[in-house]
Parts: sequence; C-alpha cells; structure tokens
Amino acid sequence: MARVFLVGAGPGDPDLLTMKAHRLLTQADVVLHDSLVDRRIIAMIRAGATIIDVGKRCGRHAATQSQISALLCRHASQPGIVLRLKGGDPMVFGRATEEMAALEAAGIAYEIIPGITAATAAAAALKISLTRRGAARAVHFLTGHGADGGLPAHDWVALTQAGGTLAVYMGGQTAGGTAAHLIEAGMAPNTPTIAIENASLPGESIRHGSIAALPRMLAEMNPAGPVLVLIGEALRPTDAAAQLRRAVKPASGLLAARRVAR
Ligand code: SAH
Repeated sequence: MARVFLVGAGPGDPDLLTMKAHRLLTQADVVLHDSLVDRRIIAMIRAGATIIDVGKRCGRHAATQSQISALLCRHASQPGIVLRLKGGDPMVFGRATEEMAALEAAGIAYEIIPGITAATAAAAALKISLTRRGAARAVHFLTGHGADGGLPAHDWVALTQAGGTLAVYMGGQTAGGTAAHLIEAGMAPNTPTIAIENASLPGESIRHGSIAALPRMLAEMNPAGPVLVLIGEALRPTDAAAQLRRAVKPASGLLAARRVAR
C-alpha cells in the first residue's frame, strides 16, 4: 500500500508551501490535485510522477467527490507515495472528511499536512489583523456555497451579535444574499468589508467597501479567480494602524529599533 498524504498547497504563492509539502511534492509517485492549486506548485512535482487534475470549481465539476475518493483509494492501494493536494488548508472547506472516510473504510493509513488557509493569506496581503484588539474577539470561517449551491442558512443574528471578523469562502456568487441577511440581522450597513481575489498570487485584486456595498464591489470586480470576502470592524482603517505600518516600513524604523536594543 502507498503512503498517503492529504496536503495543503496554501493560497497559491509557492513560497507559502510548508517545507513538508515541498518535500513530498519532490518525492511523490501520484498526485491528485484540485484546480485551485497554482501551476508553479504543480511544476514542483517529481518528474515521472502521475499527475491527475480532479479539479472542480463552483458548478463545473470535473469529477464528483465520490469519484475522487475512489480514485484516491485505487492509487493508494499500490506501493508508493500518493498526495491529495488541495488549495489552502485541507481541513478548511476542503472536503477532507469524505476522503478520510473512504481511506479509513479501505484500511489505508494517511497523514494530513496543513496549509495556509485563504483567510490568513488575505490578512497578510491586506496587512490587517483579523483579531485586532478592541475590534474583534473571534474569527468565523463561513461558506457562501451550501450543498445545494445556494447560500447556506447561517445563523445571521448570532454571527452579527458575536462581533467577530467574518471570512466568507466561496461567497462570490451569493454575496448579495450574505449582505442582505447580515444587514437584516442588525449589522451596521457601513461595516467594513473587503473582497480579495487571488490572494498571494500575481493577479491579486482587492476591493474595500462596506457590507451594503458588497454586491456592487463584486460586480465591479467581476472575478475570474477565487474570492474571499472579509467583513467586520477589525477591517476599519485606524490612524493607529496606519501609523504602525508607517513606522515599520522604512529601514530607518529597523535602525531605530536596533539603537534602542543596544
Ligand atoms: N481549503 C481552502 C478553501 C477551499 S474553498 C483554504 O483553506 O483556503 C475555495 C474558496 O477558498 C474560494 O472560493 C475562495 O473563497 C477561497 N480561496 C482559496 N484560495 C484563495 C485565494 N488565493 N484568494 C482568495 N480566496 C481564496
């Protein structure tokens, strides 16, 4: 039997792979990857390995989840190193449960290699803390795409009252509904909202606005790549945050810090 790894490929930038993911890519015999995985990462796979694109992007299913699980188990029953490579982190909206269940049912051992998830990659690109002190005590990862393809029935009132930062995955198509539900649940219409497409990738694009403006922001963005929507007071620009960013950017800031350390 193969050694099987469910591997997070991170948000796209190959430099954001873990060292373990990188090492496994150079050793793999079979790699099953989905379409969010950047081609520069695919190019790191050992020459001679079998590479299978099981990619599925919203609506355009290349293979069904049960076909993917069956394919994974079939390759895993041969000797070698088998990777199931997924965008971001495999355990965040990655359908890992179905694949782990299939492997377990077939008596195949596996390991999970975490990756950088879209929400933290977006926070890095934006230079905004998702848990800014005094503004957000929690972060909620939500999906905007339920099993039937529509917006899931989240508890919008609870989400609004919890006061955390919302990170909406797969929310591009259903952004209008998300904005309407949150405002109806009591969220202030001017609550800061940011849409980021292709975080960490060369085609990265960012729109700043409010929850009320979210549908328009996405219409203007007209994204072709994956989009993450962030919502919450932690995203509101503050003078303090701007000052801090100015202080750490120039090299003179570093020099000053060094002088203080001496
Ligand atoms: N397992 C992945 C999420 C898969 S669901 C993770 O941990 O990141 C796919 C959704 O993730 C996309 O619809 C989008 O909302 C988000 N996403 C993934 N990569 C992204 C990127 N580079 N930029 C913006 N959003 C991204």
